[in-house]
Amino acid sequence: MTARKKIAAANWKMNLTWPEATELVNALVDSIEAVNDPCQVILAVPFPYLQSVSALVKGHIGYSVAAQNCHQKAAGAYTGEVSAVMLQAMEIAYCLVGHSERREYNGETHAVLADKLVRCIENKISPIFCCGEPLAIRDQEKQNEYVAKQLQEALFVLSSDQAASAVIAYEPIWAIGTGRTASSQQAQAMHRHIRSVLASQYGEALAGQIPILYGGSVKASNADELFACPDVDGALVGGASLVASEFSAIVRSLTSA
Ligand code: PEP
Repeated sequence: MTARKKIAAANWKMNLTWPEATELVNALVDSIEAVNDPCQVILAVPFPYLQSVSALVKGHIGYSVAAQNCHQKAAGAYTGEVSAVMLQAMEIAYCLVGHSERREYNGETHAVLADKLVRCIENKISPIFCCGEPLAIRDQEKQNEYVAKQLQEALFVLSSDQAASAVIAYEPIWAIGTGRTASSQQAQAMHRHIRSVLASQYGEALAGQIPILYGGSVKASNADELFACPDVDGALVGGASLVASEFSAIVRSLTSA
């Protein structure tokens, strides 16, 4: 059996001008020229930068580019949208699905996310499925049920064969962009729970192969502790991914974990 992938993923969101983006990627690949299996670096960049960032990382082993979203339909009269078919044609290997900001600001429901997951798989794109609870749910200690439902209502539309290419990102909403990180104990407990929910649907063997990333105010200073958790297979990094020295330090933590 192959080792589970370990992933440092950057989520740039709607940040960086093209000159800033170029400088960041060049600094990153200068600092870390290649990453070896089972580690990988994934850069989730705005749509207009997908092709150019792909060109910048080309030849750097272990680097890939992700879209931050795709539309739930294959094609049609959806002005301003981007399909998974288009992403595949541009050789994009990964796509975020269900980031909490899109669930909140774009009203993405479980049903919409299930369709997006299917579009990704149909187009040989590995979905990075984001889940995580808001603070009110954590305060009521109902986070396990909440996250299980997010998986059951969307991810479980995929068959075992299809789910094999998925990546999960657990991102507690109260930790995103707030500077407040889940403790490594909280992260490990939830990642273990997610793996058990995956096992209940797909079996232990497949659940043991699906990478589960943690996201929420990950920085160079807390990465080592998070990556030391047995069920934390990397991170989805927002703010700190916009600073080359921070993100490259996070990648180093991952490769040396
Ligand atoms: C994110 O939005 O995916 C994220 C984890 O952001 P941050 O690292 O800034 O909390």
